[in-house]
Amino acid sequence: MQPILQAKNLRFCYDFGVPALDGVSLDVHAGERIAVLGPNGAGKSTFFLCLNGVLVPESGQLLLHGKPVDKKARKMLCEQVGIVFQNADDQIIASTVAAEVSFGPMNLRLPRNEVARRVDHALDYMDLQAFRARPPHDLSGGEKKRVSIADILAMESEIILLDEPAASLDPAGEERLEHVLARLSDEGCTLLISTHDMDFAFRWATRVVVFADGKILADGTPQAVFGDAAVLRQAHLRRPLLMEVWDALRTRSLVPLDATCPTTVEGLEQLLGEK
Ligand code: ADP
Repeated sequence: MQPILQAKNLRFCYDFGVPALDGVSLDVHAGERIAVLGPNGAGKSTFFLCLNGVLVPESGQLLLHGKPVDKKARKMLCEQVGIVFQNADDQIIASTVAAEVSFGPMNLRLPRNEVARRVDHALDYMDLQAFRARPPHDLSGGEKKRVSIADILAMESEIILLDEPAASLDPAGEERLEHVLARLSDEGCTLLISTHDMDFAFRWATRVVVFADGKILADGTPQAVFGDAAVLRQAHLRRPLLMEVWDALRTRSLVPLDATCPTTVEGLEQLLGEK
């Protein structure tokens, strides 16, 4: 199956000379749920900004559906690869929530009724109908985050990048976010999320990519990446709690020796129930 998006050997430097991306290659396939991990300054945000065309890499290539993204195709990249910024204030510009969410589809020059349909759908999706006339800048951090996600939903992009989406959320907000992510994934959307929450990455992702010093240090299943002590040490990542519990059960022979650690508590309960 052809990847929907490919990054080949991307390199990007800000003004100060040290490369923020130093030869990053990644193939993204339709429907993947990719957790992007790594310490602060590893290059995750820069990578996302290159993938959606906000930043132009100094060298390397992006391919969308196998076609190289040149200057002309960059607009397509912005449409097909939506990005939810880490800080909602960097994204929100309009004076009401409804105007804010309509901004993207209006820029696509869609007919008015299609813009209205998309805005309604995105507001329903994020449970924001009651906020449509409110100024986004007066909303709470969690509400703003919902608006910034609705912005991108209204673009109906194939791929959505979320840069530390849970950073400003309370536990209820995190739960709501995970529900939205599960629904988007069920609907076929391809998702890349940068996060420092190892437990979330372990239970949510189908694939984990670890950045360090502008390079990809590891790329594999959650079990493989979190099972690699050298990678975790080098990227200063901690193991998910479930893996720690798994090891404790294993050393006491409470789980089958040949079984791999389930990625969810439900998976673990099922396995223990069947033992
Ligand atoms: P991460 O998202 O993993 O925290 P970033 O992509 O934000 O990493 O940063 C990668 C490197 O680029 C860091 O060294 C950071 O200081 C630098 N950097 C990020 N944004 C800017 C910017 N706007 N101007 C200059 N340097 C930047």
